[in-house]
Amino acid sequence: MTGSRSDRVAAWLSERGLDALLVTNLVNVRYLTGFTGSNALALIGAGQDGRRRFVTDPRYVTQAAAQVDPSFRRVTATTDLLETLAPELVDVSGPDGGLRLGFDDAHLTVKAHARLRSLTPDSIELAPAAGLVERLRAIKEPAEIERIRAAADLVDAVLGWLAESRVVGRTERELAMDIEQEMRRRGARGPSFPSIVAGGEHSALPHAEPRDVAIEPATLLTVDLGAELDGYCSDCTRTFATGELGAGEREIYELVSRAQVEALQALRPGPTGREIDAIARDRITEAGHGEHFGHGLGHGVGLEIHEGPRLARITGTSPLAAGNVVTVEPGVYVPGRFGVRIEDLVAITADGHEVLSQFPKELITLG
Ligand code: ZN
Ligand code: ZN
Repeated sequence: MTGSRSDRVAAWLSERGLDALLVTNLVNVRYLTGFTGSNALALIGAGQDGRRRFVTDPRYVTQAAAQVDPSFRRVTATTDLLETLAPELVDVSGPDGGLRLGFDDAHLTVKAHARLRSLTPDSIELAPAAGLVERLRAIKEPAEIERIRAAADLVDAVLGWLAESRVVGRTERELAMDIEQEMRRRGARGPSFPSIVAGGEHSALPHAEPRDVAIEPATLLTVDLGAELDGYCSDCTRTFATGELGAGEREIYELVSRAQVEALQALRPGPTGREIDAIARDRITEAGHGEHFGHGLGHGVGLEIHEGPRLARITGTSPLAAGNVVTVEPGVYVPGRFGVRIEDLVAITADGHEVLSQFPKELITLG
């Protein structure tokens, strides 16, 4: 990878016949400019000498001066951001005033699009260009992988703490709050998503919300947690036992564990997310539990907890590439009885993969 992130966007714009890109999604603004505030947009012109603008409101002038990449000219909004941007567009357009402006049609509201249209002359064409920055974000730079690794290490440490904690008799909600407190104590800004703590039959819900219900002995307990550290997320699931389990539960644990490891072993640049998903799904289907695995195998993780690429049947169309960071999280959920999910966070490398989650995966019994 050469040049800055914005240089790469500028090169892509030329390839796609766009003159400029309007970046309105704040995560993308942060990725491209470095700005972490809550109100801003960016404009990136195509080509080597593409002009760049960064617009925020007066509250963020000082922060923007400290954070924003100097290749952007900073503009302070006197009214709203789009109205301030509109005259700047003239500056990036061609000699005839024509401009093909890409915008994020997956993010910009219909209302904002109408406003942008009303603020710009007809010589400016608004062209849907969602996903451009996200495609770049899916390939992590080494420094980004280090940050994700640190967030994953932090979660490993929290799981180590959990393994020494008393859980039986406490409520799912108490345990979830303690887990999040422990993350913060260890330096996380907070959880990267609301932690899942689900015991017994509640673990049969993939997105279970922690209840005010005591965790019972001799059952399964699913804990899905992630930390946000230095702007980057991690994501990890372990399913624990809280005592002696029945043969059915142990069998499902073994099945999910095998499916997870087989899918992991296939991770490298080349195969599509769909192909990796199929490895775990076929294993689970062969065992008669295909209908109990209702979600995709995994997702990309980075600045956001869910981003590209997807390891899934429908959306997993793109081949994996070095620099992707994905989860591998098969699950089997037997309605009304129990569920098992095992999730690791993995970086795709030039010749294979590296598992970032290091907490053991054999079935551990909590007291
Ligand atoms: Zn998770
Ligand atoms: Zn996940």
